[in-house]
Amino acid sequence: MTVEEDVKNKVFKKIDALKNTLVKHTQDTIRIRSVNPTYIGVKYEEELGGETKVNEFVEQILKDLGFKTDLFAHEEGRKNLVGTLKGTGNGKSLMFNGHVDVVPPGPDEDWTIAGPWSGEIKDGKIYGRGSTDMKGGNIAAIAAIRGILDAGYKLKGDIIYESVVGEEMMNTDAGTGACIKKGYKADACINVEPSAPPYSLAVIPASPNVSYMRVTIEGKAVHASMRDELIRAGGGGDQIGVSSIDKAMIIYEGLRKLEDEWGRTKTHPLFTRPGHFTIHPGVITGGPNGAFVISNKSTIEYAIWGHPKDSYEQIQKEIEDTIKKWALTDPWLTKHPPKVEWLLFWPAFDLPIDAPISRLCGQAYEAVMNEPAKYYGFAAVDDAAFLNMAGIPTVTIGPGDLRVAHGPNEYVKIDELVKAAKIYAYAALEWCGYE
Ligand SMILES: [Zn+2]
Repeated sequence: MTVEEDVKNKVFKKIDALKNTLVKHTQDTIRIRSVNPTYIGVKYEEELGGETKVNEFVEQILKDLGFKTDLFAHEEGRKNLVGTLKGTGNGKSLMFNGHVDVVPPGPDEDWTIAGPWSGEIKDGKIYGRGSTDMKGGNIAAIAAIRGILDAGYKLKGDIIYESVVGEEMMNTDAGTGACIKKGYKADACINVEPSAPPYSLAVIPASPNVSYMRVTIEGKAVHASMRDELIRAGGGGDQIGVSSIDKAMIIYEGLRKLEDEWGRTKTHPLFTRPGHFTIHPGVITGGPNGAFVISNKSTIEYAIWGHPKDSYEQIQKEIEDTIKKWALTDPWLTKHPPKVEWLLFWPAFDLPIDAPISRLCGQAYEAVMNEPAKYYGFAAVDDAAFLNMAGIPTVTIGPGDLRVAHGPNEYVKIDELVKAAKIYAYAALEWCGYE
């Protein structure tokens, strides 16, 4: 079906009228500190409970709209919220999924425009940790449903609204995975994570996968004054000592070359700007005993943004083969091969552009923006991967921009929130049917 013009206009008008509520609820949820308690460097007990507080707050909003709610924890103290708005019948069901956990704000003094928990508005933007990623999107999805109801329409299919914990650290078992396990399903799902860059509110049917890997390179410690013996012709060489830092650079170089090759060879129709797939050396360590000892141990930690079609096994093989190949160029590394540890894998999702849910979001985008929809691959990863794996076709589209996520002065634009709410409303009307 197609959404009738007057229905669309009536609902969009209601959403415009809801702008203040949309803004207020976004501010309210930003003001509830909900740092992921498992995040690197935070104290679990100190942050535990913030996610639940957000979901308790949102539960009340859903109840007021007539949703049946389920607030439940897979991991103690971390409650997910699932709201179900029963349709009148004979319609397809649509799920919205978003996370309530946020990353730590970093030093307060870096927040030069507004405080991380302030929810302050400046120049049409709401500031605070979680504004873009992704309390704005979560609230916009609720405003969409409210707009439909306020305009006097009822959806035929069910709406399932999932507000989950734990996304930022892939605590999937506690969050989206727990909802899947509990049996929450739908004919399709919209994940409301921020879509930009490069386009605001882009339709995102695919994401990369990401692997987290550590490579450890051995050296041999000796007094640092012996360095000339190690590096000059005629010196004692490996007999005297070996700098793990020098040796780590060989592996670093090798993987840099592979990264260059990926930039030229790994292409995907939804990542139209080439070279998105990268091998990012995020942490390099060495010199555990200080500058006056030749370093005997180095590690490099990589975040590897893989092509959606490459499996974890393929990526592991390609990386390990490269490390082996480069290690064989060096006698020490040949005898002391670097140790590779695979620490984490976040799967990709990769729906075709003409999948019904991709097309639905594109159509909704066009109805609101009056221009052809922009389809694009996600820069990062999100729970859409796990929903797709569970058999719920899921596309990401949401307000906000990853370029301001996770850093200081995070914000979301108010007019983008309103546009997102309209897109979600249109998608729900179209997908679920209405009367
Ligand atoms: Zn997010």
